[in-house]
Amino acid sequence: MGLHSRAVLRTALLFSFIPAGLLGCKAGGNDPSGATGQPPFMSTVASAPPQTADDAPPPEKTDGFDGKRAFALVAKQVSFGPRPSGSQAIVQLQDFLQSELKSYGCAMETDSFSADTPIGRLPMKNILVKIPGEKPGVILLGTHYDTKRLERFVGADDAGSSTAVMLELARLLCKQRGKYAVWIAFFDGEEAVNRDWKDPDNRYGSRQMAAKLSASSDLPRIKALLLADIVGGRNLHVKKESYSTKWLTELVWAVADRLGYQSVFLNEESTIEDDHLSFLSRKVPSMDVIDLDNGPEGDVYYWHTPQDTLDKISAKNLAIIGHVFLESVKQLQSRYLGLDRQM
Ligand SMILES: [Zn+2]
Repeated sequence: MGLHSRAVLRTALLFSFIPAGLLGCKAGGNDPSGATGQPPFMSTVASAPPQTADDAPPPEKTDGFDGKRAFALVAKQVSFGPRPSGSQAIVQLQDFLQSELKSYGCAMETDSFSADTPIGRLPMKNILVKIPGEKPGVILLGTHYDTKRLERFVGADDAGSSTAVMLELARLLCKQRGKYAVWIAFFDGEEAVNRDWKDPDNRYGSRQMAAKLSASSDLPRIKALLLADIVGGRNLHVKKESYSTKWLTELVWAVADRLGYQSVFLNEESTIEDDHLSFLSRKVPSMDVIDLDNGPEGDVYYWHTPQDTLDKISAKNLAIIGHVFLESVKQLQSRYLGLDRQM
């Protein structure tokens, strides 16, 4: 049995604690189980051993962010298998993302485009949730959702985790209206198609979105980008990413500090190229919450290996990231004048 099939088996077991509703008829609208609203395999896993994943805090302790639900959303993505740009599996994921977002009442725009890559032209799709505000400014949240083109690589953490966090944020934020608009971007094509990360073979989706927003004159409306990537590890330690806009990083770290998450948000630095560079190069204040070194000793452990599987994911840490993002959005909503001064 390969690693991939083990991951799928584990996924099936984990479905035993997925909150009702997530596995209902939202995904593609077909409910093969009929009246019960439960997928047919639920009965076969009812006697499975109890779920041993770590406990997420109750949602009321994290502004409503449901870590267990986010974990289930990672499991769902992993169940599609490897999801590199241009694959059949990523089309399934795109359909799932759109149907979930629709079920949350989110308004969204999609941009289907093709990108010239080292293996030829690939179809890609960005998805952008738009929650209106009273004023023209926009707070942009983002993640990539494609997985690295590697054999047996199911990307539970990269980028299943941050994609799940953004979905769960969308579920909460699409019901709210703030002073400023909040947009949530799901980028395709962040990963390099070749093994190595070498410009321009990476960030296809975020470069496309930044260019498109620039062409439509919407780009200056974006006052901040908060990006997440690889945020679900059980040994999560986020360091201040050094390309990121300093005041924005400090704002997020101050939020984490106030919420008591100092053990996850470390007062250390790292330097990582990611989708935020596509916006930084166009002068949009941007920061990245990312943890590549998620091994037990703070070393690189399962990043870009077939070991990036669901068992590496912590529902609790997903909730911590979600909580920090929700509170950071509140901070940005209330500190807009300060933001303007710093532009
Ligand atoms: Zn990656």
